[in-house]
Amino acid sequence: MTVVQCWDDGVTSDLRLIEILRQYQARATFNLNAGLHGEQRQTIMRHRETDVVRLARGELNETYDGFAIGNHSLTHPRLDKLSPDEARRNLAEGRDRLQQLFGRPVVGLAYPFGSFNCTAMEAARETGHLYARTTRSAEQPFPPEDPMAFHPSCHVLAPDFGARYERARARPDGLFYFWGHAYELTTERMWADLETVIARIAADPLAQWGDLAALFEPNAR
Ligand SMILES: [Zn+2]
Repeated sequence: MTVVQCWDDGVTSDLRLIEILRQYQARATFNLNAGLHGEQRQTIMRHRETDVVRLARGELNETYDGFAIGNHSLTHPRLDKLSPDEARRNLAEGRDRLQQLFGRPVVGLAYPFGSFNCTAMEAARETGHLYARTTRSAEQPFPPEDPMAFHPSCHVLAPDFGARYERARARPDGLFYFWGHAYELTTERMWADLETVIARIAADPLAQWGDLAALFEPNAR
């Protein structure tokens, strides 16, 4: 079984998450909005009485060194509310700027708010993405029917995470794909639980970490 994970929004809690991922040599993709990182860190909202802080542009390269980068659009709009032109521009510029910033190809997309429709899917395809992730949990065979509607197995905090993992594990060619936001981990207990999950996957003889983009390269799998 291949296990892939991705984390959205480029926030300061990614720093703590990355320490854990590095400790277990776990691979991951971080989905970023190139147009939203300023010169300074910025508080973007409150989540369960904790400030959610976006990283400064200047610290992105070092923070995500060794991890894959995915596009999360330029400015995090609901793509299903935009015109085809606006959606294309937002995705294209987001992708271009990430590629310039990191100096490598960015081929994956995570739909902001998980919202997508035919326009968003078409825009994602036309702007050079190999896959686009939704937020709809699904147990589907890989490759997905349409890579522009690539549904993850579940959210990292899904109550049935373990059961879904076991079902994916039971299939020799299974893919288990989880996603989340590091800022959702708001208590020490949640961080400890996440570390347990990562440690278990790392120690699972039937699991290996995969790279999302590589799954979609020609001749992969
Ligand atoms: Zn987001």
